[in-house]
Amino acid sequence: MDFQVQVTVTRENRGDLPAIIDFSAKAGAKALNVFFLVCTGRGQNMTDLGPEEYEEVLNYLAAVEKSSPHGMMVRARCAPHFLRVVSMHNPENSLLKGNTSGCIAGTGYLRISPEGYVTPCRYMPPSNGSSNLGVASLKDIWSNDHLFRSLREPVYNGKCAQCEFDRICGGCRARALATSNDAMGEDPWCAHIPKEGKKDAAPVRPVWTDVAQERLSNIPSFLRPMIRSGLERYAKAKGISEITPEIMAELKNKAGVQGLVQMEGTESKTTRSRGRGAGKQLIGVTFLSLGLLNAMFTLKGGMEPDAFIYVFVFLGVCFLMAGLRK
Ligand code: SF4
Ligand code: SF4
Repeated sequence: MDFQVQVTVTRENRGDLPAIIDFSAKAGAKALNVFFLVCTGRGQNMTDLGPEEYEEVLNYLAAVEKSSPHGMMVRARCAPHFLRVVSMHNPENSLLKGNTSGCIAGTGYLRISPEGYVTPCRYMPPSNGSSNLGVASLKDIWSNDHLFRSLREPVYNGKCAQCEFDRICGGCRARALATSNDAMGEDPWCAHIPKEGKKDAAPVRPVWTDVAQERLSNIPSFLRPMIRSGLERYAKAKGISEITPEIMAELKNKAGVQGLVQMEGTESKTTRSRGRGAGKQLIGVTFLSLGLLNAMFTLKGGMEPDAFIYVFVFLGVCFLMAGLRK
């Protein structure tokens, strides 16, 4: 059975990480997710790592991620600057391609509180201005809530505004909110000092051709922002000023990301083929079951097997074979 291991790193257990990774890899885990504490709610007064310690652990994880022990995926969670650290290790790392983004709050993720408040992340507590399902629909909140919108077209404050890694990282918005009461403020748990002038020297945001924009609009809305930002990041890194369907196809081929495969606005051929195969297998099993039931009742009643049994079994085997061939 495939399984993942999730662990929260604190000052107390950071020294155990190599042993945890080794144990998880040898046990056959597909992924190890190392969570970084977000100091809100009950976690507010727990022992947490400081920015420098975060940096050390992230550097360690980035090095382990490269070696992929026993084929296990190692990821840092609730630590968007992991992508910045990975990029500093290797700007060509495949983690930076495709639709991976530092923080998914409000772009691929939301939480609903027991009182019906909708916030972009479970670590962002509802405030006076938070939208509530008693007043608006989830679709409406997702599309129009001010905070959700500002997370999709972010304009950061503090050092995140000056940072050359803002597109791949963007900092943890919950930590910014908890410490400065500004969801777009800087993430105080990040030790990085943005390089002066680097941001201004970065290429301007690429423009989308009408056809590319139309293809993007065919993607489910909850995936769209991540795919948009993945493509823009790719274009910027390559010095490409215009995103066209060809650039979309190029990244789709390189990244091999399912979300990018779905850019065509349809399911991938593989998915469709698997779906048809499974359908045929189901029909095959149904015919075989009918044949079996028929045989049972016939034998129980002391009668000779009738032609229906052979027809059901024949059809069942045919459909099963056709389904397995897909
Ligand atoms: S704001 Fe983003 S990075 Fe921070 S905990 Fe929520 S999802 Fe994770
Ligand atoms: S300064 Fe902000 S955007 Fe830059 S790496 Fe740190 S958290 Fe990320």
